[in-house]
Amino acid sequence: MQEIKIGLEVHVQLNTESKLFCSCSTSQAEPNTNVCDVCLGFPGTKPVLNEKAIELAMKIGYALDCKVNKKFLFSRKTYFYPDLAKNFQITQLETPIASNGKLKIGDRIIRIRRIHLEEDPAKIIRRDNCILLDYNRSGIPLVEIVTEPDLKLPAEARSFLQHLQQILEFIYVTDFNREGSMRVDANISITKYEPVYDYLKNGGMIKKLEGARVEIKNISGIKEVEKALSYEILRQKNLKQVVRETRLWNEKTKTTVSAREKEEEEEYGYIFEPDLPIIEIPEEMLNKVQSNMPELPESKKKRFLKYNISEEIIDTLLTDPELTHYFEYLCETHNEKASAVLLAKYLKKTLNYHNLKLKDVPIEVRQLRRILDLLQQYLIMDDMAEIILREMVNDYVKGKKIREPDQVLKDLNYEKPLEEEKIKKFVREVIRENTKAVKDYRNGEKKSLDYLIGQVMRKTGRRADAKKIKKLLKSELD
Ligand SMILES: [Zn+2]
Repeated sequence: MQEIKIGLEVHVQLNTESKLFCSCSTSQAEPNTNVCDVCLGFPGTKPVLNEKAIELAMKIGYALDCKVNKKFLFSRKTYFYPDLAKNFQITQLETPIASNGKLKIGDRIIRIRRIHLEEDPAKIIRRDNCILLDYNRSGIPLVEIVTEPDLKLPAEARSFLQHLQQILEFIYVTDFNREGSMRVDANISITKYEPVYDYLKNGGMIKKLEGARVEIKNISGIKEVEKALSYEILRQKNLKQVVRETRLWNEKTKTTVSAREKEEEEEYGYIFEPDLPIIEIPEEMLNKVQSNMPELPESKKKRFLKYNISEEIIDTLLTDPELTHYFEYLCETHNEKASAVLLAKYLKKTLNYHNLKLKDVPIEVRQLRRILDLLQQYLIMDDMAEIILREMVNDYVKGKKIREPDQVLKDLNYEKPLEEEKIKKFVREVIRENTKAVKDYRNGEKKSLDYLIGQVMRKTGRRADAKKIKKLLKSELD
């Protein structure tokens, strides 16, 4: 028997326009072009704190049910490494911006120990026998979200990260399209319980073997976290004694390798950052952030479940905050179920195909309403709604102006479904021309009806719905 304890440290880049302590841009650019004396760590330069980063970190704190601290300070974490030009990183030790939160996954509650703000170091790129450094990343605001070791399985760690990512997307604090926007350190310890026979006491007992805490550093990608943890459980199973250490995950070999023996926090030689004041958040700002908090996915889901829509479709809507906004707009004018199906099935399918998010494609709510109108008036069927959306997204992908739904229909030479009177005319014709099949049907041969439906379908040039033809046929024959 064994007990697994997993804790995560999730680093998330905040999507501010400028860096945490200087006015350099955070946009993607040629290496080492978004830099200045501050983020290159020149002697004598002083950091100036970016208020927007504090606001975004507070939002994360509220979203994860944390206590947001009104007063905090920054510290210097000293270590010598090429990605850190000034040989220390400005971070928070004693007073994080938020603490004591939680995130629910199913019926499990995972406690959040702390959320603190720090600067990202430069990016290290290994190429051939060289190490290249890109200081564009140096100073980008980062939050570190630290959980208690409450997770019990690699799959649960994956589920936690998926939930976390969804929440962060809904509160608009980071850009997940950016490579390396979320990086995870995972720690794991395994306690084994072994039955032993004690001759002195003449009986059996359970021996508890507490495992050492192993940290796996810098894993990018949620699935990789799960794989790294699964590998580590297997590795430790075969060891007599596990040593406390830091390991690195190798995505190519799918193994972890030892990096160094884990240092204690004290070894980093933290000191208070003397160039930044103690920060006190004004009541006004706290209220502003709190009252402007976007609705979280869990609460949206509760509301949507009240409509007559399957949970699967709702979960699909919740994979993209924009889809849920569009859904609410469409519901103002149209049936909820039809709106949800149009977005979650047809639009999402097309977006997925091109690896796009709704926010990338300038389709307007007005245009989607038009498609719903066409459906409602039976001028198109569901399959045509899907084709229209596919064409519209294709326009965007090809760099063209997105066409109106009616224009798409025109370009496809689409003919609207036949009116009922016309279909009836064909139904009567088919009955007249197929006396044998009609007789068979009346004698109880159900298959003959399918044959008759097919005949009517041919006459209409497939411009009528099979269900409708069946209904009309039956009313003539029965
Ligand atoms: Zn700078």
